[in-house]
Amino acid sequence: MKKSPTDHLARSRRNRFTAVRLNREVELRDDLQWVSKTLQEPSTRLVPLWRSRSLLERGDEGTLAIYLSPTELSETDRIQPPTLLGHDGKREYFAVSVTDSQKDAILEQYPAARFADLRRASIDMVAKHAGILAYAKALHYWQHRHAFCGVCGNPNLLRSAGHRMKCSNDECARESFPRIDPAIIVLVTHEDACLLGRNSKWPAKLFSTLAGFVEPGESLEDAVVREVFEEVQVHLENIRYVSSQPWPFPASAMCGFYAEAIDRSSGSSEEVEETRWFTVDTLSQAVINNEIRLSPPVSIAFRLLADWFRKNGGGDLEELVRQNRVVKFASSDS
Ligand SMILES: [Zn+2]
Repeated sequence: MKKSPTDHLARSRRNRFTAVRLNREVELRDDLQWVSKTLQEPSTRLVPLWRSRSLLERGDEGTLAIYLSPTELSETDRIQPPTLLGHDGKREYFAVSVTDSQKDAILEQYPAARFADLRRASIDMVAKHAGILAYAKALHYWQHRHAFCGVCGNPNLLRSAGHRMKCSNDECARESFPRIDPAIIVLVTHEDACLLGRNSKWPAKLFSTLAGFVEPGESLEDAVVREVFEEVQVHLENIRYVSSQPWPFPASAMCGFYAEAIDRSSGSSEEVEETRWFTVDTLSQAVINNEIRLSPPVSIAFRLLADWFRKNGGGDLEELVRQNRVVKFASSDS
């Protein structure tokens, strides 16, 4: 089959957290003997998570993911059995939830590392490792939020090397699988301008694309139409799916769209307190003048905007933001 460089798979692969590229080894998850042997292999790497935070270290080249070898962490099942993530061609990766005392021991071993929020740290991480940590974090979140059966209330037990839960009550024996909440995110445009909104709960000056969760009984496109009308009272046409992104903060799958507004009237709501239409020129000026802030470049929100900006002759938005940030950091440090 002829490969198109701009198909949806190629577009989604440019988004952060999609570069996991592990062989997930679905067929091996229930082979208990293989799992326990592989966990002891010297080449195996453990991805520790403490209270949903990832083990990271600042390096000269950016933020590094710190993985542990099996000899560096005994009792990998203190909280729950380790979760098989997969194989990258060289080694196996397992996610492990660590206790407070294990966390302290790890930090003693790695004094320059810390358990930190992946969303912020992932900005300057190698894409593959940001993807592995996001995958581990998503499973960890699900496992910790679904400790009890939703039907009978008995404890759930992890099965399939962390990818399935089974109720411990034999009469119920309900099975459950990792939960992901689909959400839409959309850049609304009209002729040469795009619409950005400001959520009332966001940090000062931050403007971004509109987004919201898909409701039961809705298609993704229905959710785009409803959310945009609810938030800013704009009617849409020509809704186009662009790409998607796993967003484990805490458990979303972001589905990115472009849509055209029928005109430039827009309102506000409890959630979106202000909207502004930007052309490429007014957006550039707003960034340069530090009038607005944009979502981090790791987000699909930024990707949708940056692609629109480039296609409309604005150039590299990430570079523009970075240059402006350098100026800001330099002046605030001095
Ligand atoms: Zn049950």
